[in-house]
Amino acid sequence: MAGWRFEHTYAELPQLFHAPAAPTEVREPRLVAFNRPLAAALGLDAEAIERLGGAAIFAGNGLPQGAKPIAQAYAGHQFGHFTTLGDGRAILLGEQITPSGARVDIQLKGAGRTNYSRRGDGRAALGPMLREYIISEAMHALGIPTTRSLAVVTTGEPVYREAALQGAVLTRVAASHIRVGTMEWAARNDSGAIRALADYTLMRHYPELADAPDRYLALLDAILARQASLIARWQLVGFVHGVMNTDNMALSGETIDYGPCAFMDAYDPATVFSSIDHGGRYAYGNQPPIAQWNLARLAEAMLPLFDSDADRAIERAIAVLDLFPLRFEQHWLDGMRAKLGLFTREDDDAALVNDLLAWMQQRSADFTNTFRLLTSGRLLDASTNADPELEAWHRRLAARRGRQPQAPAEAEALMRRHNPAFIPRNHNVEEALQAATGNDYSVMERLLEVLATPYDHERDLPKFSAPGSGTGGQPYRTFCGT
Ligand code: AMP
Ligand code: MG
Repeated sequence: MAGWRFEHTYAELPQLFHAPAAPTEVREPRLVAFNRPLAAALGLDAEAIERLGGAAIFAGNGLPQGAKPIAQAYAGHQFGHFTTLGDGRAILLGEQITPSGARVDIQLKGAGRTNYSRRGDGRAALGPMLREYIISEAMHALGIPTTRSLAVVTTGEPVYREAALQGAVLTRVAASHIRVGTMEWAARNDSGAIRALADYTLMRHYPELADAPDRYLALLDAILARQASLIARWQLVGFVHGVMNTDNMALSGETIDYGPCAFMDAYDPATVFSSIDHGGRYAYGNQPPIAQWNLARLAEAMLPLFDSDADRAIERAIAVLDLFPLRFEQHWLDGMRAKLGLFTREDDDAALVNDLLAWMQQRSADFTNTFRLLTSGRLLDASTNADPELEAWHRRLAARRGRQPQAPAEAEALMRRHNPAFIPRNHNVEEALQAATGNDYSVMERLLEVLATPYDHERDLPKFSAPGSGTGGQPYRTFCGT
């Protein structure tokens, strides 16, 4: 027995939210990445799965016991423009009930065409699927809410993009795949659909609100609270999602849809990696306001639930949306305090943080390594020339630390827990993907091993902590890979 234990509550939502979808068989499935610890957490017997032909299951050639594959319908604002979408290449097998009683979606990404494929081929290329595997697992290890990656199989079939690439299927594990765009899709229909989806979302992700007065406003507020926390977590590690369209924002509060994402090296709020983000809409520094913009689209879609009077509904929605900046700021500032080893709160903390960031931006200092050096007390030693500005800032930090009761060792321990020593460096990710597409998976496995314990400061691995530059003086670029 492999341990599959599927339920299918999403499929009980009205028809407009989903369509049956069978994975399309692939020629020659081969399991190239398999997340054994995650399999165990899901209640799956990794050995049995491998024995029973894991590659075939994760390619969609054979369905696991109890699976009832569907594609989900949704809409979304892409770079600000509304469009109807849906799973064009992803197929939901069902909701696995884990040994701890959690309910998680098991989805095959790249499993073939569905009702919503439009002109797409329903397939995915190996590079982007491995990229999602690496970055999502790194995010998880960093302690940031995220979808997970259970497996990647190659299909033995080419996919045609700008060139012929190896095809692959990723098995994604998610709290759910309900997106802001799913609510936008519901709103294209009727208030019954909106209510059904809101009730479902509430029951699945926010059951504590079941009896809340004004439950739908409470739901909006709770979703917003999770997003404020999530985006703060991104900012605190320098993660740039790259394509924060409303269909790529999960109502569960997990990071979802790893496309052109990457981690910032030199601190610069204007950092953009995606080759298609010409306007910088989804730049690092824009992520908080974009999240709020996306939540406004969610609120708009839910309006009929807030009040029978339209003006009153808008007023109430705005009152919730207006909470975002302050909520975000609080999470961010508390996180920054931890990164500086501060346990207490003082009014000038934001200035202390912002002055360090301004210094980093001016010097093009590496975001991760600056905090890492600060953690080990080596930031001043690391700069080759005397830097009076940094010295002055250091004195302020020392004075600030002196005003809290905690001992320096406690401050350092706090910093170690909040300043990763290792993030998925762009050059390491590229190297791993290059090797993998040439059929050498050892480089990726080593990278995954390093990224599995990002807060382990004891290891000295310059190869994994050196910032990577783009090639030939060009900035690093990422591609959607769809
Ligand atoms: P994304 O940019 O990955 O968030 O995808 C946006 C939309 O395009 C989603 O509805 C996807 O299902 C769809 N899509 C992306 N790639 C493909 C493909 N190769 N075939 C069909 N649909 C696709
Ligand atoms: Mg998407």
